Amino acid sequence: MSKQNTVLTIPEPGQFALEERPFPRIKPGYAIIRTEIAPVCLEGTRIWSRHEFEELFGGYRSDYPDGLGHEGVGVIEEVHPGSDFKVGDRVIVFQGDHCGQCHSCRNALSPTYCDANIHPRDGQTRVAMAGMQDWNDSESGGWAMARYRIAPQANLYRIPDELSFKHAAAANCSLGAGFSNQELMDVRAGDTVLVAGVGFIALGHIISALYRNATVIALARNPYRCDLMRRMGVAHIIDPDDSDWLEQVKALTYQGQGVDHAVECSGAAYYQERCMDAARIYGNVNFSGHMPDEKLDFVALDRVTHPAHKLSGQHDVRVLDRERLVRALLDKDLQRMIDVMVTHEFPMSRAGEAFDIQVSKQCGKIYLYTQQ
Ligand SMILES: [Zn+2]
Ligand SMILES: [Zn+2]
Repeated sequence: MSKQNTVLTIPEPGQFALEERPFPRIKPGYAIIRTEIAPVCLEGTRIWSRHEFEELFGGYRSDYPDGLGHEGVGVIEEVHPGSDFKVGDRVIVFQGDHCGQCHSCRNALSPTYCDANIHPRDGQTRVAMAGMQDWNDSESGGWAMARYRIAPQANLYRIPDELSFKHAAAANCSLGAGFSNQELMDVRAGDTVLVAGVGFIALGHIISALYRNATVIALARNPYRCDLMRRMGVAHIIDPDDSDWLEQVKALTYQGQGVDHAVECSGAAYYQERCMDAARIYGNVNFSGHMPDEKLDFVALDRVTHPAHKLSGQHDVRVLDRERLVRALLDKDLQRMIDVMVTHEFPMSRAGEAFDIQVSKQCGKIYLYTQQ
């Protein structure tokens, strides 16, 4: 019998199935990876509960009922002759396609903003993971929640021998996204970082900030996640519903100036406004949360110019941050924090339980083991 691929599907909200598909095919420049871990991202929230698929920058979509998952680590299964990789190499897969000749590719920015992930290539109708599968004339392999996936070798990073798959798998939307946003903001030792709206994006930001010897202040209400933060080493957790929450935050900053960096991780206007309130003059306000259609209403003169705030936000990990990120992943205390963040690990054959836990918010980051 010829080699097959097993692909996770969510045919209807609250139901999943594992389906057999033809083994992936690749063009030169791409690799087939046997995925070991596919961390759960938005597949376990809006897609699982409501079949709500995220619209990408550019207006296209990336996920489908039979195309799920973008984060992951694994082992090279197949490459063309002349590849930079060999069969058996352990790799982190950074999501999406790679064109090599757009602003993002030329400047080593995040692949999310590569032209190939925003506009369909010539003769194609889909983008990102779907576009990459189509571009390779393959009937499977576009996505992470499958035994085998396709990736451009430009978006693969060889994992150092001493780094486990479990720790390396934090390089995508948990630690990776926070780490790269903090490189963008230039978070330094001694800085104060307010993290608001705590899910796995926030937990990644917290790990990155603690690794940089910054002081973390969390605005959070979920008791389960407050406990995770305390175990990571967060000393200051403030209830955003307290009438004096802002005074409490400012009291923890140098001369009551406000925080150097305020990071919003839920996408909710409730927290976005509080981040703008808490940042000092010339401070950073970063939007790392995902909540489609949520609107923040403000007067730019009052909210940006008067406080001289720098607003930022980006998906994913910039190419230029990958090496520093992997060096951070080798740090023992950072690994200890990842072990706190990853609260649940499931074989892909029990993905429904993983997604239910994600919806319940009684979790940190959840990993799926795709070979099981
Ligand atoms: Zn590109
Ligand atoms: Zn993700």
